[in-house]
Amino acid sequence: MSSSIPQRPFPWHVDAWLKTIGQFKSGQMPHAYLLSAEADTGKRHYATTLAHFLLCHAPGADSACGSCQMCLLNKAGSNPDLLIVEPEDGSKVIKVEQIRDLKKFLETSSHSFGRRIIILDSAENLGVSSANALLKGLEEPPEDVMFILLTDRPKAVLATITSRCQVISLPRPDRSQSLIWLQQTIPDTVTDTDLDLLLDFAQGRPLAAKAMHDAGTLEQHREIGDALLQLLENRVSPCTLASRHAKTQAGEILRLLLYWLSILCKHQMTGDASYLKSDSLRRAAAALLKPASDGIVPTRALFSLYNETVVAQTQLGSTSNPNAQLMLEDLLLQLSRLARVKSSMLA
Ligand SMILES: [Zn+2]
Repeated sequence: MSSSIPQRPFPWHVDAWLKTIGQFKSGQMPHAYLLSAEADTGKRHYATTLAHFLLCHAPGADSACGSCQMCLLNKAGSNPDLLIVEPEDGSKVIKVEQIRDLKKFLETSSHSFGRRIIILDSAENLGVSSANALLKGLEEPPEDVMFILLTDRPKAVLATITSRCQVISLPRPDRSQSLIWLQQTIPDTVTDTDLDLLLDFAQGRPLAAKAMHDAGTLEQHREIGDALLQLLENRVSPCTLASRHAKTQAGEILRLLLYWLSILCKHQMTGDASYLKSDSLRRAAAALLKPASDGIVPTRALFSLYNETVVAQTQLGSTSNPNAQLMLEDLLLQLSRLARVKSSMLA
């Protein structure tokens, strides 16, 4: 029989994990958990790790064996005693048909004469009829079934569902835990500085940072950063830049611009140079903020542009189909004016 290393919880979830395993060992597990945690910090991983442990035929002290038939089925993603229900096909809502499948699962018996587990991701996205159908299962679950519900927004989960579950609030990792995990997960060719930047872009959420790395975000941001620097250094016009990037990269330009403006504001208010983590940021700061004190762009102008960029980003993500090129032109024109104000004041 082949074997593999069993899945383990992320380091920042170990304390919660040991408590959950303690409940299992003392026979005090509820029939339904609601795992609550910020998005992209690993709650889905926690849920599948728990499911694998509970389904394993020969578990160790605090992890699945990795080798039994159930572990191999789990690894292959084909265990008939584990049902994962999640929004499908880009939809945000769990559909009633999916809950019907869940009910069918509840009506059948275990394939391995053991426990069965339902993971439902994300509980806040249940429509009213789906929630009602789920409630019946939660109220009178078959004895061998355990529910593990997940949510990013516990307050948005119907109280009738929450009240039937034991809630576990999983912590988010601190920055050093996230960085260590990224160092271990992403190839050595990526520098610690770039990992730090990725974590900034991902607002401190390590799984989002990993997804950004896999999607080539660093390379994309380098390219866009170079383009923005050309604008700040008066080597390209706002119109040219906007027309070059509006169709495919408008969202990324806005995202990077927001990041730059937030960092420049923090740097300007605190004087702390450690905020300027990349060469691009240092050059942007040189173009906008330094060196003469009377040439500094007022912080309020940076804030104002930041706020306008937030509005543009919201419009771009809406269904109103805004003109991305015009929006970009306007923001880039304002950015280039800020750089020119400083140049003229220095002159
Ligand atoms: Zn096993």
